[in-house]
Amino acid sequence: LCEDPSFWKDHNVQVIIRMRPLSNNEISVQGNNKCVRQESCQTISWTGPPEARFTFDLVADENVSQENLFKVAGVPMVDNCMEGYNSCMFAYGQTGSGKTHTMLGDIEGGTRRHSVNCGMTPRIFEHLFSRIQKEKEVRRDEKLKFTCKCSFLEIYNEQILDLLDPSSSNLQIREDSKKGVYVENLKEMEVTNARDVIQLLVQGAANRKVAATNMNRASSRSHSVFTCIIESQWDSQGVTHFRFARLNLVDLAGSERQKSSGAEGERLKEATNINKSLSTLGLVIMNLVGISNGKSHHVPYRDSKLTFLLQDSLGGNSKTIIIANISPSICCSLETLSTLKFAQRAK
Ligand code: ADP
Ligand code: MG
Repeated sequence: LCEDPSFWKDHNVQVIIRMRPLSNNEISVQGNNKCVRQESCQTISWTGPPEARFTFDLVADENVSQENLFKVAGVPMVDNCMEGYNSCMFAYGQTGSGKTHTMLGDIEGGTRRHSVNCGMTPRIFEHLFSRIQKEKEVRRDEKLKFTCKCSFLEIYNEQILDLLDPSSSNLQIREDSKKGVYVENLKEMEVTNARDVIQLLVQGAANRKVAATNMNRASSRSHSVFTCIIESQWDSQGVTHFRFARLNLVDLAGSERQKSSGAEGERLKEATNINKSLSTLGLVIMNLVGISNGKSHHVPYRDSKLTFLLQDSLGGNSKTIIIANISPSICCSLETLSTLKFAQRAK
């Protein structure tokens, strides 16, 4: 695995492919037949026909552990937020490809000391709070203070649901010259350690399940967005300084082609909305990459709730990382190709 310290140096958008192991079900149907072959730590081939080669910032195969993925992708996100810049991490991929395993993993098992399957989010917050602790000790003279506030929401069918307050519904995105883009009436909980965060993640995941059951739909058809606002304040030469960063961790809706043929009413609307928000995200990211290459286009942030909401955290000095999850099985060949193509456009 490339643990390159200059991972972020050249561009603000990074794309990682994460291949999960074959599942027992895939093995029973198609044996060990795979649709992809890793060529190097940055290159992967789709075996076709016709064969196609793709290059990314990193290709993580099934042997890359949760901890190693965190070191490569999670640590730079935290470091970036400590510098006062916004960061976004997205997990993209078809349902069953490993998005939730990557972002949350085994959260009930506690933080990393307790479980090898513990995912990105709990590890990120353990690291964040340990960095905060160290920084406060080193800069005691400056009376350095930190406040971290978290929110957790779901976007389903272009409607926002507060996963920390499920009694609310259809929350609205507002824009304010001081606050920037924000969700009105969204619950924000102060957290002081990784345990607090895990508690919110567990609570939000449970509410997400209830909402899905009540509305008779799979949670794979909604996006979940966990956000932490990190504020710091310190004194230097008689002046108080403030710094502010947002860290967004997004588990996207399954990218499998939503069948609109034959679907009617609510299902048709749902399929259209998922396709639209994922393609808008793709466009926004493509344009960001275009801008960093010196080309500038209109960026269609407002075309979906997801990109509108994250507008202040995408572009500018923000860092974005996309983890595109794939199954290596021949069973998922076409969906895997479509994920590789999406990820390639973001490069
Ligand atoms: P998604 O959220 O994309 O629908 P999941 O994260 O729920 O997919 O993963 C589907 C299944 O595959 C789960 O049982 C999960 O534990 C397993 N899985 C996914 N990625 C990995 C991995 N890298 N290593 C081991 N098991 C994995
Ligand atoms: Mg999932």
